[in-house]
Amino acid sequence: MFKGILLLSLCLISLAASAHPADKVATGHLKVVPGEVYGFKKYPSELAMIQKAIPIMEAVVNSEEFKQRVIGRQPAYTSNRGMTNSQVYTYLMQGKELLNGNNTLGEMNFNVERYSRWWSKVIAYTSPGQHDWIMVNGKFYSKFDQIDIAANLTHEWIHLTGFLHDSASDRDSVPYAVGDIVEELSRKFVKQGFLD
Ligand SMILES: [Zn+2]
Repeated sequence: MFKGILLLSLCLISLAASAHPADKVATGHLKVVPGEVYGFKKYPSELAMIQKAIPIMEAVVNSEEFKQRVIGRQPAYTSNRGMTNSQVYTYLMQGKELLNGNNTLGEMNFNVERYSRWWSKVIAYTSPGQHDWIMVNGKFYSKFDQIDIAANLTHEWIHLTGFLHDSASDRDSVPYAVGDIVEELSRKFVKQGFLD
């Protein structure tokens, strides 16, 4: 009898340990493949910061922590195109941009162009499905470090895959919420040099 109870409680412990919904989802892999990066000739330090951000993005999105955080995100995403958290993760990890995404699966493809609009509150914008350029405002990029850039480029790239949001107050939308996860994990990665 005691043996039975002990066995049962051991089983419950191992069930609890494997209960994270992320465990049922296959871990994806993405290569970050920027195309053209345009408009930075006069801003070499910003260009250098973008180049530092790329491997950070790649380390973050391929980490187990990213998977767990994206799938475990609470509250669930708004503007989620009808997907569950797990489906959002799996969708993102396909690397399938609206435009020609099928030709470059497994890759985060995008181009970056700098513009300057000091009076604007817009950090960056995209035209999903029309082209794969991420237009970034120099007003902000001149102050951004590699962590800010990794988070912002991920937010904008998520737009290129078709996830949108109503306004900047839609913090639970996929671009904002996953962008925030990338910011947090990028900071952790830069600080400790690895992620789980
Ligand atoms: Zn956005």
